[in-house]
Amino acid sequence: MIAEPPIDIHRLSEIFEKQKRKSFVLRSENLNERKKRLSAFEDFLMRNRTRIREAISRDFKKPTTESDISELYPVLTEIRHAVSKIDNWAAPKKIDATLTYLGTRSEVRVEPKGVCLIIAPWNFPFNLSIGPLISCLAAGNTAVIKPSELTPHTSQLISELINEFFEEDLVAVVEGGQQVSEQLLELPFDHIFFTGSPTVGKIVMKAAAENLSSITLELGGKSPAIIDASADIKDTAKRIAFGKFLNNGQTCIAPDYVLVEESVQTTFIQELKKEVKKMFGEKEEISEQSANYARIVSLKHFDRLNNILKDAINRGARVELSGSLNPETNFIHPVILSNVASESLVMQEEIFGPILPVVSFTSVEQVVYSINDKPKPLALYIFSSRKSFQRKILTETSAGSMGINECVLQFTHPNLPFGGINNSGLGKAHGEYGFRAFSNEKPVLRQKRGFAMSYLLHPPYTDFRKKIVDLLLKWF
Ligand code: NAD
Repeated sequence: MIAEPPIDIHRLSEIFEKQKRKSFVLRSENLNERKKRLSAFEDFLMRNRTRIREAISRDFKKPTTESDISELYPVLTEIRHAVSKIDNWAAPKKIDATLTYLGTRSEVRVEPKGVCLIIAPWNFPFNLSIGPLISCLAAGNTAVIKPSELTPHTSQLISELINEFFEEDLVAVVEGGQQVSEQLLELPFDHIFFTGSPTVGKIVMKAAAENLSSITLELGGKSPAIIDASADIKDTAKRIAFGKFLNNGQTCIAPDYVLVEESVQTTFIQELKKEVKKMFGEKEEISEQSANYARIVSLKHFDRLNNILKDAINRGARVELSGSLNPETNFIHPVILSNVASESLVMQEEIFGPILPVVSFTSVEQVVYSINDKPKPLALYIFSSRKSFQRKILTETSAGSMGINECVLQFTHPNLPFGGINNSGLGKAHGEYGFRAFSNEKPVLRQKRGFAMSYLLHPPYTDFRKKIVDLLLKWF
């Protein structure tokens, strides 16, 4: 592990205390102020588009257009959506009185949680740090962001941008790795929004328990894409090639592996190879110079991927597509494997890189069994024209989100919740769901003066009152 610079614990506490004081002020802030701030931040980010693209490209050579699509655009839509909807999301919701509550008036008020911590991963280093910040600010909170140490250029830029635009008592960035993260987790944040691996997610959940901080955990896992013989194979190959090799396969909701009906396996692999070449280079082997293809984030991850690839081949996997692997540039050519043994590491671990195992099946029952036999995935994709096939997988398996004849796009739909389930995450993010994750929904009941129905239930418990209770139990 790389040694981290010493942490100034007092500095972390100082930021926390400043933000705590600010959070009390924010409680009574007018919603228009929140909207103005978010809109100004949107303009600020647009003005800094080039800096954002350059920092991410320096970290893992992500193509600039890919950064626009998958880093900046999701954040901008999150802001635009929040600004147009905050009035509605934050408005108290009137609640009808039931018969036993006649005479009362109730509502659910939405209030900010307070001081929030956002811990981000490296794979979409800008999007996954700033995206949750938008929900956090829309809900009226303050935030401390801890970006990933594995993308130092982007993390430093995030720190600069936040310092340029926000006062520290509203949003602060603390750079560093595991140790800084651990120190931050000791502070009694009102909400912790963590995106990362299930292993670290468990550590975060334990730390949150010490302060009873509420949490959102956006984790990972093995997300399958299932293709049956009725699917439009050409279309399917196009969508899977995009979803898998975007960000060099380092996407939490990328199809991790493919389950394909045996009769269409060969056609699918042929079409997938054609699509990969169309997207990244027409030659037999995709050039290391390709400007359309990102790199692996670090040598450690390069070595991990190289090892799981070797393991799969040693266990009999057939290489359907491959090319150069260069540890000096962290370049791994897209790899497609078939005939993969289920004990191979590629079928056991989250791959998180440009290696796609394709496994055949002959019955839908086999598919349902194999998915339910593993931890619930973050995403599951069904490629099929048969409603009965779609319905069976939809109803008999569980996942954080599902796509039918599409993959990955569910992430940016502003009206859909995003998140995992159990091993792939807890809680939901994005749009109204993200706003609610950072809010406390506070029920308020107002009683009128004088006689109230509840008087009938007060002691002493006379025969008359006992009869009322009997009626209550039986009818209301
Ligand atoms: P990670 O869990 O290693 O690190 C995430 C963050 O946690 C980093 O900021 C890191 O500094 C911090 N951290 C690391 N060890 C820690 C510890 N012991 N205590 C406290 N904090 C610690 O994840 P990663 O490698 O950055 O990202 C890859 C993982 O994230 C994959 O599993 C992927 O599926 C998942 N992911 C999920 C989503 C989602 O939205 N569900 C999105 C992107 C990535």
